[in-house]
Amino acid sequence: METYDVVIVGSGPAGMGAAFTIADKRPDLKILMLDRERASTGGMRNDCKMNFTFPIGFPTEYWEAQDANHYLEQVIEFLKPSFLPKTNIGIYQKRAERLGCTLLDIRQTHLGTDGGLLLIKALLVQLQELGVELALGEAMENIHNQERFITTEKREIGYKKLLVAPGRKGFHFLQDLMHTLNVPFVDNIVDIGIRVETRIEHYPIVKDYYDPKFYFPDKVRTFCTNSGNAHVVRERYATSRGDQWHSVNGHAFSADTHSDNGLVNFAILKTVRFTEPLASGQAFAENLGLQAALMGGGKPLMQRVGDFRLGSRSKEDSFSGDLYDFEPSLKTCCPGDISLAIPAKILRSIWRAMKNLDTIVPGVLHPSTIMYYPEIKLYANKPAYLDERFRVTEDVWFAGDGAGTSRGITGAWASGIRSAEGIVMTL
Ligand SMILES: Cc1cc2nc3c(=O)[nH]c(=O)nc-3n(C[C@H](O)[C@H](O)[C@H](O)COP(=O)(O)OP(=O)(O)OC[C@H]3O[C@@H](n4cnc5c(N)ncnc54)[C@H](O)[C@@H]3O)c2cc1C
Repeated sequence: METYDVVIVGSGPAGMGAAFTIADKRPDLKILMLDRERASTGGMRNDCKMNFTFPIGFPTEYWEAQDANHYLEQVIEFLKPSFLPKTNIGIYQKRAERLGCTLLDIRQTHLGTDGGLLLIKALLVQLQELGVELALGEAMENIHNQERFITTEKREIGYKKLLVAPGRKGFHFLQDLMHTLNVPFVDNIVDIGIRVETRIEHYPIVKDYYDPKFYFPDKVRTFCTNSGNAHVVRERYATSRGDQWHSVNGHAFSADTHSDNGLVNFAILKTVRFTEPLASGQAFAENLGLQAALMGGGKPLMQRVGDFRLGSRSKEDSFSGDLYDFEPSLKTCCPGDISLAIPAKILRSIWRAMKNLDTIVPGVLHPSTIMYYPEIKLYANKPAYLDERFRVTEDVWFAGDGAGTSRGITGAWASGIRSAEGIVMTL
């Protein structure tokens, strides 16, 4: 069995941040990075818009502004982003404040789905040049922590120190790992909401601010805005029993390589925090996902705002008849009634936020605007960390969205650096 000083599981931004940090600080170490896919599957691969201002992407239970800014500076120094210009922010901010809402002014970049793939490829080449060994298309399956080795579907791999950064899709995998390692954890927070799609003319703020971050009352916020050549997509998830459901998401291609489709999409999410006796936000979210799948014949639901306002379900002809204004970019969705599927308290908060948004950016509630449901974010694993560098046992560290230390590319990269510093200190 081959043994490495450090094994990094996951080549997303958390794994990358860690690998570059360790390779830089300790070029003498033997490092392996493995990923079940050939190119990481998270946000670097999908849309790749990056936010460089705290608190976006940094769960505040783990990050103080000062720490996050310290690591963000390192991410900026490494990635050398060119920030997108913004205009007229003051006008929107004033309108928002009058309604008790906030528009955050965030430093952003956008590479697009195609640009993100190019970045991943360039980073992987750079890592190899630094001597990091890559095993792509190989998944970690199990851990033998006493003997310090992991198993994949192909072999056993020894480690002195292990960093696990499997992202949101690795949520279940990480929970299984925590059971094996006896790491206590809770996952009592979940973000649930809808994805809104409309024409750019109905949400023109995106010409001033690529991904406007609005915060509304009741812990509701806008999230992940895409425009230009923008598409709503669906992601498949499976419960631990193997039942399938879909969450929607969105992405856009880079501005200069594809022609625009004239659409914009963004999520409106409500953060829900559970207390006793419900232990798992994940389980709750999965049940909502399954309920939506039940109503949509296995597909996510979509409804035009015009139908929603009248209290009627959308039908096939809502997408070709009266309310027709543009084609949904995600065709594999079921026209229906989202209000039958969303818990009343969540829907009330979201609809209130949308009405506020329509006052701040008039037009977004055009009758043709589409609301897709569900959009669910599973990044709320909260392991009991042993220190501030996300160590969970003597030889194992976690980082990234799956481990609850981030909620975005830059936060994940920062958390990878932070874990890597912890690892380097012990070698
Ligand atoms: C469709 C989509 C679009 C997004 N768009 C954006 C965006 O534009 N901007 C933004 O800031 N955030 C975006 N996000 C969120 C972003 O993906 C995450 O915040 C970020 O990627 C988290 O980084 P990570 O390293 O923790 O995980 P990931 O980037 O998810 O990387 C984890 C990697 O681990 C691998 N892996 C998982 N399990 C195993 C295993 N058992 N063995 C080996 N490898 C494994 C996965 O294949 C994956 O490549 C998006 C997410 C999605 C799903």
